[in-house]
Amino acid sequence: MNTAVSTPSSLANDLSQIQPANKAFLARRHGLLIDGTWVPAASGKTFEVRDPSSDEVITHCAEGDAVDADRAVAAARRALEEGDWSRMKPVDRERLMHRLADLIEQHADELAELEAIDNGKSVVMARYVDIKHAIDVWRYMAGWPTKLEGKTLPISGNLVPGQEYAAFSTREPVGVVAAIIAWNFPLLLATWKCAPALAAGCTVVLKPAEETPLTAIRLGELVQEAGFPKGVFNIVTGAGPSAGAALSSHPDVDKVTFTGSTEVGRLIVQAASGNMKKVTVELGGKSPVIVLDDADIDAAIAGAAGAIFFNQGQVCCAGSRLLVAKRHFERVVEGVSAAARGMKIGPGLDPTAQMGPLVSSVQRDRVSRYLSEGLAAGARAPAGGTAMKTPGYYVTPTVFTDVNSQMSIVREEIFGPVLVAQPFDDLADIAKLANDSIYGLGASIWTSDVGKVFRLASKLKAGSVWVNCHTVLDPCMPFGGYKQSGWGRELGGEAVHSYLESKSLCINITG
Ligand code: ADP
Repeated sequence: MNTAVSTPSSLANDLSQIQPANKAFLARRHGLLIDGTWVPAASGKTFEVRDPSSDEVITHCAEGDAVDADRAVAAARRALEEGDWSRMKPVDRERLMHRLADLIEQHADELAELEAIDNGKSVVMARYVDIKHAIDVWRYMAGWPTKLEGKTLPISGNLVPGQEYAAFSTREPVGVVAAIIAWNFPLLLATWKCAPALAAGCTVVLKPAEETPLTAIRLGELVQEAGFPKGVFNIVTGAGPSAGAALSSHPDVDKVTFTGSTEVGRLIVQAASGNMKKVTVELGGKSPVIVLDDADIDAAIAGAAGAIFFNQGQVCCAGSRLLVAKRHFERVVEGVSAAARGMKIGPGLDPTAQMGPLVSSVQRDRVSRYLSEGLAAGARAPAGGTAMKTPGYYVTPTVFTDVNSQMSIVREEIFGPVLVAQPFDDLADIAKLANDSIYGLGASIWTSDVGKVFRLASKLKAGSVWVNCHTVLDPCMPFGGYKQSGWGRELGGEAVHSYLESKSLCINITG
């Protein structure tokens, strides 16, 4: 069992070395962005933000609650119906969004560093995955406002004899959007929600996760610098059960869009039913990585390790179930375990670290519970299997074998660097095994046979199927889940359309 020994001091970020802009940012007390102004919470309360690598408090943010949610929603409503935003031409909306993308790009290194300190992730990954992808998504979505077309409809008008009609469909913003997001990709998830919502002409109240509010706040500052009218983009930081619940049940919010656990997703859906809000929820996963017997095994080993260990396994579509053709099982398991054992564990600001801390002590304890449950149930861990006794929230990257489908480590989403590996005998059974989950977010197939790709991909109940790769995301590719992985899709035109209402316009043209 690997216990990756390092001295605790090398596992904590050295905050004396961070960029001056971020030092100044952390030194500030952060407010809520409501109607174009940063304000304290009405209650005056704040909450602590911690560095996951050290458990040290790094800054404080305003703790918004239902009163603040009300103020933010009212501002978003005014901006939607009365302000400059409501009169803004699509091409001007597009220009603002491009300006914001340019500003994010200009501040990319700073944002990546902030993400690494706040979430625990690698600064290199933050820069070249989170921030880069966020910039690409803002630019992609900036192209949409000028392309939201309606249709001319071929109406027959048969129900009313002697009358003639012309009919059209138009697209209108759905209204005020509440965006409630998780902590695993803070800026990126804020972008996935806010960029298509703004492209569609909606106004937004963003509630970042309480674990990781910092890049959302920086985004709010950049939105202001870009020149968006006041009230278009509001931020309420605070706890899920107060600020989040107030937004998801708010009678003047038209749509709630959420990324997080299936458990909280269910609460959001229930809360949203009060005024029948439109809902998009992107939830949990237990995505299979399927290695067929004709796969390039070395590529599959590297791919499977990346699929589970990227971002400390805190990825909704992480490849957390490894299903391998029996004759390659031992080789693949040993390859992925060796990769796990060889990973350099370290804090986000160490550019050479390959596995950072988890986001919070709660998450570390949750993952540790699964490690104990797995071992107690009889699973074997050729790599990892332990949390580390450090102030930071580290667990060792883990591979479990000798598992069965009754075990909690096989059935439940762990959201940590924990892989369960199972062999399969027969290609005919593989879809059944892969689909044996309440989730259906992603799946990858590793093979050199294109025929098998087509036959298997169509049987997999998953919103994304990757072949010889895993977690490849692009602004144009819809992303979301089957089954209990969610409703609706992020990214692509599908995301933009989920922030639009369709209106049929019927005109009596009888002469
Ligand atoms: P995780 O379980 O991975 O920590 P959650 O699903 O709990 O993630 O949280 C995702 C987001 O949902 C966060 O912004 C959190 O504050 C928010 N949230 C948590 N509970 C609720 C709730 N009851 N109503 C609305 N939002 C909530």
